[in-house]
Amino acid sequence: MVNLRFGAIEEAYKKRPLEVKTPTERPEQFYGKYVFNRTMMYKYLPVDVYQKLIDVIDNGSRLDRSIADAVAQGMKKWAEEHGATHYTHWFQPLTEGTAEKHDAFIEHDGKGGMIEEFSGKLLVQQEPDASSFPNGGIRNTFEARGYSAWDPTSPVFIIEDTLCIPTIFISYTGESLDYKAPLLKSLHAVNVAATKVCQYFYQDVKQVHTNLGWEQEYFLVDENLYFARPDLMLTGRTLMGHDSAKNQQMDDHYFGTIPERVQAFMKDLEIQALELGIPCKTRHNEVAPGQFELAPIFEECNLAVDHNMLLMSLMKKVAHKHSFRVLLHEKPFNGVNGSGKHNNWSLTTDNGILLHAAGKTFNDNLRFVVFIVETLMAVYKHNGLLKASVMSATNDHRLGGNEAPPAIISSFLGKQISDLLEHIEKSDKENIFSLRGKTGLQMDIPEIPELLIDNTDRNRTSPFAFTGNRFEFRAVGSGANCASAMIVLNTTVAEALQNFSERVDALVAKGEELPSAIIDIIREDIKTSKPIHFDGNGYAESWKKEALRRGLDCESNCPKCFDRYLDEDSIKMFESMNVMNRNELEARNEVKWETYTKKIQIEARVMGDLTMNHIIPVATHYQSQLAKNVQNMVNIFGDVEGKKLSERNIKIIREIAERTNIIETEVEELVNARKQANKTESQRDRAIAYHDTIVPKMEEIRYHIDKLELVVSDELWTLPKYRELLFIR
Ligand code: ADP
Ligand code: MG
Repeated sequence: MVNLRFGAIEEAYKKRPLEVKTPTERPEQFYGKYVFNRTMMYKYLPVDVYQKLIDVIDNGSRLDRSIADAVAQGMKKWAEEHGATHYTHWFQPLTEGTAEKHDAFIEHDGKGGMIEEFSGKLLVQQEPDASSFPNGGIRNTFEARGYSAWDPTSPVFIIEDTLCIPTIFISYTGESLDYKAPLLKSLHAVNVAATKVCQYFYQDVKQVHTNLGWEQEYFLVDENLYFARPDLMLTGRTLMGHDSAKNQQMDDHYFGTIPERVQAFMKDLEIQALELGIPCKTRHNEVAPGQFELAPIFEECNLAVDHNMLLMSLMKKVAHKHSFRVLLHEKPFNGVNGSGKHNNWSLTTDNGILLHAAGKTFNDNLRFVVFIVETLMAVYKHNGLLKASVMSATNDHRLGGNEAPPAIISSFLGKQISDLLEHIEKSDKENIFSLRGKTGLQMDIPEIPELLIDNTDRNRTSPFAFTGNRFEFRAVGSGANCASAMIVLNTTVAEALQNFSERVDALVAKGEELPSAIIDIIREDIKTSKPIHFDGNGYAESWKKEALRRGLDCESNCPKCFDRYLDEDSIKMFESMNVMNRNELEARNEVKWETYTKKIQIEARVMGDLTMNHIIPVATHYQSQLAKNVQNMVNIFGDVEGKKLSERNIKIIREIAERTNIIETEVEELVNARKQANKTESQRDRAIAYHDTIVPKMEEIRYHIDKLELVVSDELWTLPKYRELLFIR
């Protein structure tokens, strides 16, 4: 019998780090080399066209079709000078990846030849034949048109020979079929609502931008070992595998020395990411062996989302070059930490005021308090929805484990901010601020340091922590599109801010002075949003009870969590903020449930195959070897003594028999449970059936397989083990 596992291990041992060519230039010289950024726009576009385009990008003015041709010409010239022969509309369908369809820059010239062609029309809008992307029934086949439309706020870039044009993807009737379209609408909604609130404090603010700084965790495994694990290849995670005797107990991997082969990969990845304008800054080992993290400097949210999508696909490509596979699954290995993607989120005005950071004056600090408290209001009111935005079949394994935020959304504020809010809530209003002559209003509270460095608490158990000048949403899955979480967060905050200014305006209309009105409403909201504020240990059992008592959403059944999107409150919010309508929300939920079911279905099938083709044959093969040995012993020593001397082997023979019997029965039950679940008509009920019946059955099967791994001879076991997968040589 050929054991693939040993061949794979041998190959993995031979690997040396690839030589990575260090660029002769400094990063600032090759940063953005393949991006059509402002400098390039200025160089390749006529001045008036450049100015109009910048107005579209900066001020959201309508794109004038008359400039589209000129922009396309300039872009094409630039792209060709960088070796591009093709172009594609690059979009983000609901599959969590990106999609592209490449076309060459050529057209018939009408005389039997070819000419190079790229018009404004082709730049601005396309109709990709993309009818097989999930759409939840929005596009029936008779109107199966989906349009991709250029998003000029995210610059075009070149990958290999292709000019990639970031686009939104919408149906013929205008409904969103992707992540980008609702993300842009949610960004617009926060911009409008936050600008209005800002103007209470700073008259010259015209716009508010959303910032996103993501931290991407991932695992690397050797490619040969990966190919010897059909479960990793087909599902992205190990469906079986006993713990390695040593894994992360010693905490020796975290921030440790990066293995040489991994260093080479990281360096290569970083250079290529920088060339694409992704401002990579941090790289380090993570907690689990084989786990790493990369974080760029934060950017405007839409751009940051695109960059994260781009980085994830770049990682896969670069990993392959280094004979690695990158695992973006949230829980590729049991028993060690899974991977997430922290989303650092904040708001900034067009004149550079960071709204979630404290300032020096009364005015700045009151504004700071308003943005903190209204963010809390948003998260409080829609905590279940926010959780739904990060839930998936794969992230389900991670949330709630003692390694990632629990499946209850709460917000950590730290001592300083907690004290500050308490002070504002409890003290006499007269004491909060008093008019002090020429220095203007003062807050009667200890000065808030501008940078709350010591507040960047390492309370890793909080899913939504305030970390000094931003909130950090830590429950996002490593493989997810950040947009899913950002759409919900932005929309809820927009709603909260709008609601806030409406109430303030009502008080002012009644004759109350503005600062006093603001304080009144803020005091009310500090009280209302209290249940979401939790600085304690999110892993503690007592927190679950307490959270339930506080009325927070404690649902942990993933398909049921998706229901929150269709709550009347949620629909009302998405519709009034102009982000999505009921039809879109319903369709997207169909996609979520269907995706959930499909993922579990594939896992269950792979588990069935592996059990029947690997585990049981190997275990029974070993069992026969042992039986032969027992027979030999009986032949030599006689029945009684022979069996006595073979006690250990007999015990293992029995254990293998018992476990393989159980496994076979359970695999049969698994198949039947699937058949049963597949009969369910509604996507929602089917997903729930998969969650309730298939997932627990797979866990039971796994338990016995992992026990068999411990007793079967290592030389027969065909699947690379955890100790081999997790430690990179
Ligand atoms: P850590 O959470 O490990 O302390 P960093 O301090 O390096 O990490 O920051 C993590 C991410 O948060 C980075 O992408 C960083 O640019 C981003 N970040 C920092 N300040 C803000 C902010 N005000 N708004 C949004 N993102 C921010
Ligand atoms: Mg962080």
